[in-house]
Amino acid sequence: MKKNKNKIQKCKKKYVGQTGRPFSTSFREHHRDFKYAYKKSKFAQHVIEEGHTFRPMENIMNVLHVEKKGKVLDTLEKYHIYKETKMGTQINDKLTVQANSIFETLINNNPYRGQ
Ligand SMILES: [Zn+2]
Repeated sequence: MKKNKNKIQKCKKKYVGQTGRPFSTSFREHHRDFKYAYKKSKFAQHVIEEGHTFRPMENIMNVLHVEKKGKVLDTLEKYHIYKETKMGTQINDKLTVQANSIFETLINNNPYRGQ
């Protein structure tokens, strides 16, 4: 029997999180969790559970915003988690996401929707 080629699909799920440290540090932590199956990071957990390959940093991580720590960054983080939750593509904690009419307005009217 032939293998189903449709199985090789790019995963659309995303983990959103702020960090005050270099990307490479976060990547190494996620990778360590994946390698030793610590089940600490939601991202590593997802990669393990779905049988994904742990791809290089430049392929799997990208910057959404550069902002100093604080209320603005917290709100941006919440917004992105909210958006991914709405699209059914987040691997953060779904239970922490609450209805937000301002985020709804942004999602439905944002000229930068693709980002
Ligand atoms: Zn996946």
